[in-house]
Amino acid sequence: MADVCHRLYDRGLVTATDGNVSARLPGGGFVATRSGVNKGMVTGKDLVRLTAEGEPESKGKRPSTELDMHLFIYRMRPDVNAVVHAHPPYATAFAAAGVALDQPVLPEILVTFGTIPLAPYATPSTPDVAQSIAPFVGTHTAILLANHGVVTYGSDLIDAYFRMEKVEHAATIIFRAGLLGGVRNLTGEELNRLRDASRRNYGKDIST
Ligand SMILES: [Zn+2]
Repeated sequence: MADVCHRLYDRGLVTATDGNVSARLPGGGFVATRSGVNKGMVTGKDLVRLTAEGEPESKGKRPSTELDMHLFIYRMRPDVNAVVHAHPPYATAFAAAGVALDQPVLPEILVTFGTIPLAPYATPSTPDVAQSIAPFVGTHTAILLANHGVVTYGSDLIDAYFRMEKVEHAATIIFRAGLLGGVRNLTGEELNRLRDASRRNYGKDIST
């Protein structure tokens, strides 16, 4: 978990004390980064063990202020074992501009994520954030948070972290394509062929 935090910081996906990471523990309960720690400097001492209800097991270390959002995702998605929240600059620029990453542009992103929706603005570190993502959590694994950042989640920490990397990479490419005159969306026929390939190669449909 500390390694994932270091990667988030080293790749510029967070800065200062931004972002938070959590994981579901096999025996029930969770572990989350503590509040106010630079992700580039996280050690084991900066991780907080939480009960199945999300309460810190020991006093003294305050978990991330976005813990409500993490717990909400775990409650809605029993298949999810890790959640990563960051403020990657390109993806957050889309979120600040009110633009979802929901156009059929990059085949690999479509196969991995389907669309990447934009949740309406909610004040960070309040229960409103969980409410804002509620319509998307069941059907997506990456969500832009308007004027705020990005949350990704997956079957384990590496899966959730890789999704964050991929969202930022896609946002960077689509932003730069915009500078070159704009993206060319895949045609309906190209999308159909991609859907067939996704079913054949990965046994899954593209969720849009
Ligand atoms: Zn945040």
